[in-house]
Amino acid sequence: MTKVLRVNPLNPSADAIREAAEAIVGGGTVAFPTETVYGIGANAFDAEAVKKVFKIKGRPSDNPAIVHISSIDQLKDVAAPVSGELLEKFRVLWPGPITFVLKGNGELPEEVTAGLDTVTVRMPAHTVALRLIDAAKVPIAAPSANISGRPSATSAAHVIEDLDGKADFIIDGGNTMFGLESTIIDLTSERPKLLRPGAYTVEELKRYFPDLDTSEIILSENEAPISPGLKYRHYAPDKPMVVASDDMIIKAASELKGKRILFICSTETAKSLPKDSLAIDLGSRADLYRVAQNLFDSIRKIDKSDAKMAVIERFPERGIGLALMNRISKAAGMRLADSVESIEKLLK
Ligand code: AMP
Ligand code: MG
Repeated sequence: MTKVLRVNPLNPSADAIREAAEAIVGGGTVAFPTETVYGIGANAFDAEAVKKVFKIKGRPSDNPAIVHISSIDQLKDVAAPVSGELLEKFRVLWPGPITFVLKGNGELPEEVTAGLDTVTVRMPAHTVALRLIDAAKVPIAAPSANISGRPSATSAAHVIEDLDGKADFIIDGGNTMFGLESTIIDLTSERPKLLRPGAYTVEELKRYFPDLDTSEIILSENEAPISPGLKYRHYAPDKPMVVASDDMIIKAASELKGKRILFICSTETAKSLPKDSLAIDLGSRADLYRVAQNLFDSIRKIDKSDAKMAVIERFPERGIGLALMNRISKAAGMRLADSVESIEKLLK
């Protein structure tokens, strides 16, 4: 049985937090909101409880989970000592949507770290998450609260869709603010390295880590080819999805009229589509934070709609647009439509 606790995200009731924290301490699992996406968490020091989280998600055990803390002081419980200089940066950047891979201290079970000697840590900037960790008095290991491979949950309704009957508690704190996962930076080698673009932008991060290595993520920097295919599919709908420019979307919508294609696009593009096109408006191109906020909910709607496939708009990879396009590309299995015919081919 899953109990849903509805709370005010800015001022959650102490009773609800206490009930959920007791579940964590008792070896249970709790889904909770953060400023990025919802997490499904357990006491990071309780191997059995963390195992439950992985089982609930269907997550492979070789994919480590992020450990969430609520104070800088808690860092020493999960990671090896860090330099004073780094600690100063953490004090500025945390709480926030930024996660660091650090050297571990050997205290966490391998269920959390996947047996690596590193640990991935974040202090979330969300009152519910911070109060829950505070009340439980333990760090909380929490991957995103979705079935593995599905889009991350950005509302309690998404969590219920995926985890009802599996998690012990779901704390409903409304929609998450960013709607995209945290940025991950690996600090365990000589040069800080971007592992996942996220809610905290690279442009901003470079103020703190000027030598940040982004070559694995920003492919144009190292000329690595974009590999097509299913290997990169993640956050994905069951139905086919492809990325296309705004012009291509407008062209396809008129040439493939009535073929049950769902267009997921900016307000500006939506306005140019023929009447009675199937479309989801992600928000204005001028506000990519809004577009990001709506992304995962829109991807979840594809499979629920009676469309046969979806075409999603390509956005510029600047600022939050880098993380946005990273998720869109993965969800679309790295497929970019270069013609109306290539879209039509996916209809069968
Ligand atoms: P999620 O569980 O969906 O919030 O995603 C967490 C991400 O952090 C996954 O992509 C993990 O592979 C990554 N991650 C966690 N721990 C480590 C680590 N020690 N080294 C590298 N990546 C990690
Ligand atoms: Mg995830």
